[in-house]
Amino acid sequence: MKSLDEYAALAEQAHGHMCAGQILGLRMAMYGVKLLGIEDPAGHDRKRLVTFVEIDRCATDAIPIVTGCRLGKRALKFRDFGKVAATFCDLKQDRAVRVVARETAKRRAQELYPEMTNKNQQQMRAYREMPDEDLFSIQWVRVALGPEEFPGYKGERRVCAECGEGINFKREVVRDGRMLCKACAGEGYYTPLA
Ligand SMILES: [Zn+2]
Ligand SMILES: [Zn+2]
Repeated sequence: MKSLDEYAALAEQAHGHMCAGQILGLRMAMYGVKLLGIEDPAGHDRKRLVTFVEIDRCATDAIPIVTGCRLGKRALKFRDFGKVAATFCDLKQDRAVRVVARETAKRRAQELYPEMTNKNQQQMRAYREMPDEDLFSIQWVRVALGPEEFPGYKGERRVCAECGEGINFKREVVRDGRMLCKACAGEGYYTPLA
């Protein structure tokens, strides 16, 4: 693993600015990886890790900087729970740890640096220095997902009977005996315009 400062420079570049969320996300990922005992997550150990993130905010952008887990490699999963939390799964050891930012972290930052009036500066400073245990709570968890959710899965590609588009990774749905994509089965997030 790199140092927090080295990761912070990379995160700033990728995210477009430096913010408290970046520091929190980097610390969260470094802690998760440390708890799993993975030494070089983005390098030598890069195929070991899958990360689930639970919010689409600043902290989430920082996590792949440490873990090397990317959406396009199927190693970064988004579950929109609206929580500043992430679960780090070690595929080799078959174990996973969920790391959650503590509700008290912001208040603690205020206690540490009451003289800093800029909240972002105050939190950035405090989140660099606070011990892992003050920033996060953790729980060891089991992630119950089939092999089709993980990198390296080779499955049959289906074609939707309605729209004709190809479907990978067992995302097809059978309705009244027809094989459909999720959009045609009524689970779409968009409506085609006339
Ligand atoms: Zn940000
Ligand atoms: Zn379809």
